[in-house]
This record gives sequence, C-alpha cells and structure tokens, in this order.
Amino acid sequence: MTDLEPVAPAQPVMPAWEYAAAPESKDIVRLQDRYGLFIGGEFVEPKSGRWFPTIDPSNETVLAEVAEAGEEDVDVAVTAARSAYVTAWRDLPGSERAKYLYRIARALQERAREFAVLESMNGGKPIKESRDVDLPLAAAHFFYYAGWADKLEYAFPAMKPTPLGVAGQVIPWNFPLLMAAWKLAPALASGNTAVLKPAETTPLTALLLGEVIQQAELPPGVVNILTGAGATGASLVGHPDVDKVAFTGSTEVGKQIRRAVAGTSKHLTLELGGKAANIVFEDAPIDQAVEGVVNGIFFNQGHVCCAGSRLLVQEPAFEQLLDKLKVRLGTLRVGDPLDKNTDVGAINSRAQLEKIGELVASGVEEGAVIYQPPCDLPERGFWFAPTLFTGVSQSHRIAREEIFGPVLSILTFRTPEEAVEKANNTPYGLSAGIWTEKGSRILWMARRMRAGVVWANTFNRFDPTSPFGGYKESGFGREGGRHGLEPYVRLEPVS
Ligand code: NAP
Ligand code: MG
Repeated sequence: MTDLEPVAPAQPVMPAWEYAAAPESKDIVRLQDRYGLFIGGEFVEPKSGRWFPTIDPSNETVLAEVAEAGEEDVDVAVTAARSAYVTAWRDLPGSERAKYLYRIARALQERAREFAVLESMNGGKPIKESRDVDLPLAAAHFFYYAGWADKLEYAFPAMKPTPLGVAGQVIPWNFPLLMAAWKLAPALASGNTAVLKPAETTPLTALLLGEVIQQAELPPGVVNILTGAGATGASLVGHPDVDKVAFTGSTEVGKQIRRAVAGTSKHLTLELGGKAANIVFEDAPIDQAVEGVVNGIFFNQGHVCCAGSRLLVQEPAFEQLLDKLKVRLGTLRVGDPLDKNTDVGAINSRAQLEKIGELVASGVEEGAVIYQPPCDLPERGFWFAPTLFTGVSQSHRIAREEIFGPVLSILTFRTPEEAVEKANNTPYGLSAGIWTEKGSRILWMARRMRAGVVWANTFNRFDPTSPFGGYKESGFGREGGRHGLEPYVRLEPVS
C-alpha cells in the first residue's frame, strides 16, 4: 500500500464575492422645489402659508418643500370633495368610475420606475422592494377595485349598496403609495370622494399620485391630497362634513381618532399596530423557515404593521434555527436604498430611529441577549443594524411593544397549546405565521390564532383580493377583497 497523499486544505465552497455598487439612477425623478396641496384637481398654495421640508432619510438631504395644510385648507378640500361627490361622482355609472380607476392603474404601471425611485428616496426603503412590491401592488389594487365598480350589487347579494359621501383618509409612512392605493381604490370604486392625508415624512409619492389623477382626468375634487403633520390629520378627522374616516397608523392615534368621532354619525375603520408571532415547529422546513423569518421582520426595515416581530420556536429546533438565522443575518446588505442589492434600507426618520434605540436598550436592560452581525452603517442618515434578541421572556417590553424596526425577539415553546397561548398573549392581533410540514397542524393553529391574517409556510404575502385587518388593538374593518368595499357603502335590503 502506498502512503496516502496529504489532502490539500479544503477550499471554501463559496468564495466571498464582493458586490459592485448597483445604484438605480435618480434621473427619472423630476423633483420640484415646492409642492402645493392637491385640491379640486390642481396644486394650490396653502392658505395656512406654511411649508415644511421633506428629506431623504438615507442621507438627510432636503428633497423639497411641501405645503402644510391648516384648518382652512382642510375645509376647502372637504368642500371640493363634497361638491365633486354631488355633481360628478356619486351618480356616475359604475362602469364609468371603473374607467378612471383603470387609467390610474395603468399610469402607475407606466410610471412605475419613477414612483419606485421616489418612494425609496423619500422613505428609505430598498429599491428592490419599492420596485417589486409597493408599485405592482398599488397598481393591482386600482385594477382590482376598478373591476368591482360596476358590480357592487353582486358584492352584496340582496342588498342595495350606496356610497357614504366624503371619505377622510389618513395614512402612515411605511408604505406611502400602497396605503394611498388601499384607501382610495375601494372608496372611489364604490362612489365616494376622498381627502387623503399622507404621513409627514413621506408626502412625495402621494403628490405624484396627484399628478397621475390629473393625467387620468378624474373630475376635479374626487381626490384631494393634503400634506401636513398630525394636526392636519386631526382637523380632517374632525371636519363635520366628512362622512367616513379611514385611518392606518399607530394604536395610540387610532384611539384618539375613535374618541374624536364618538357621538358623530361618521363611519370609522382603523388599521393599527401589531406584534405578530411567527411560529416555527420542529418539523418545519428549516431553511425556508429561516427565509420566512428574515422576510417577516427585515422586510421594509421591519416598518411593517404585520411584521413577524416575535419568533416562537419549538424547543428542539431552537439551536439549529438560531445558528442559521445568525449566518443569514450576516449576509443581509444594509445601506443605500437605491442600490439594487440592498436588503435593508434606511430607518424612515430620526424619531423612529430613537424609538427603536430606546426599545432595544430596554431589551438589554431587562436581561435579553442581543445579537447583531458585524455591519458598517453609513455615517449620515438613519440606520439600524439587523438585530436578534434571545433569552426573551413574555414580560419584556421587546416581547410586548411594537418596535416597528429591524428587531426580532425570539421565544421558545414546547407544545402547540403553549404556542397558541403565547402567540395570542398580546393586545394586538393583525397577523401570524405558522411553519410546519403538517397541513392538519396549520389548520388547527390557524383556527386558534386571534389575528386577521394567518400565513402558513410563508409570510408578508399581500394580494388585493384578500382582506387584511386586525383583531383587538390592531383595529377593525378590512381592506382588500370584497370585504374592503364594505366600509365605504351603506347597505339596505332590496325591497
Ligand atoms: P401615527 O403617528 O399614528 O401616524 C399615522 C398617520 O396619522 C400619519 O399621517 C400622522 O401624521 C397622522 N396623525 C398623527 N396624529 C394624528 C391625529 N391626532 N389625528 C389624525 N391623524 C394623526 O403612526 P406612524 O408612527 O406614522 O406609523 C406607524 C404605526 O402605524 C405603527 O404602529 C404601525 O403598526 C401602524 N401601521 C398599521 C398598518 C395597518 O395596516 N394596520 C399599516 C401601517 C402602519 P404624521 O405623519 O404627521 O405623524
Ligand atoms: Mg406620527
């Protein structure tokens, strides 16, 4: 026998490839220095005389100045919406309303790149998400509800649906254009007119949508867009001639709004916060579960109301899952939102960054164990490294409060009953995820989840045909699907 040759040291299977920068060009976006309010089909100067800067959160540069609508402006906009409702929209045949919605949808598709780049510039989200998620879904919502506009009587068998009137709609900054689409499409399809208030930090794509509404030649006043801060939202909600209030945002502001409309005849829907459980059983396909957990909490920097921010792992799978998660976190690319390879972009605002920092500090202080992969964060702008916490107990703030950032709290469980108990042990109830090989267990779990949406072996999947909304402090009312029309109509039995 000959001596065996010594084996050469093993080469790494995957050499460490460096990514070249792959920035999406900003050239397609034409920014104006100043944006007025979109009222009655035109961009107008605010009667308040006030303007505020809007920035790019990835580098803190000012992108433009935007009007701040005061009470008088809100009144002008609501009056324009009322007049359009009575004279142009309410009595238009559904098939005609549909044409306008189809036009908006097609214009969003045609101008998708421009919208996606602007969304990433103003909000900090990675271009691959604005391009592949926000824009296609926003267009899909308009297409979907355009399809309902002339079929409302089929949506509500044996009932006669009539529109409510003027809808006052207030939306947050995490999916600025998409939330505008979720609000406007069902309202317009069912014959209402709207006044929309985008979030203070992300007004630009809503204003670009104003341009699209002009392009689609909607009757003036059917859609009005008022930029401003919380006070603008409050005066819209409080305006006596608003018939329907639709709000997406924090539970805290949702409660204020509920108090503000109490005792009035205003209809109300609230889409609020969440603290979803993503539940991984020991028989789950582990690599897919890791991807689902990462998508669940790091998609859109964790600025997602239905984010899977509490990971519940069955004990036998815990170590393997944690090891794989840590490796996967190390491969997430944090940085320039306009780089096509970026996985985690900028935090939306300094205030949000501070809120995340404060909650993470509380996690450390209360005794949970923090893990962050090594990663270089840019110096300017608002950034937070992908973060995991182990050793989390149910009483920790990071297990109870919504962080709304790229921070995952990991807990364990032994039995399905314990998973149900822990998952539902929250004041929220927007979504849940279940990872297991067994179909029967998916159904058993889904029945017991007190959450509006339950995903099985996937997470953060959205479709305009599927209703979305909360239980408990996550709000009430549904957006999407046939259910999404219901908050915008009055139903009377056909006599
Ligand atoms: P927020 O402070 O509640 O703001 C939401 C919107 O309401 C913004 O346009 C805001 O204006 C406006 N606003 C603030 N105070 C108001 C008031 N008193 N009356 C009327 N409007 C008022 O929430 P956020 O911090 O922007 O967004 C994050 C929260 O939204 C998270 O809790 C998240 O879970 C929730 N969210 C829920 C969903 C869902 O579908 N359930 C979707 C996305 C986000 P400013 O921008 O000037 O503050
Ligand atoms: Mg706010």
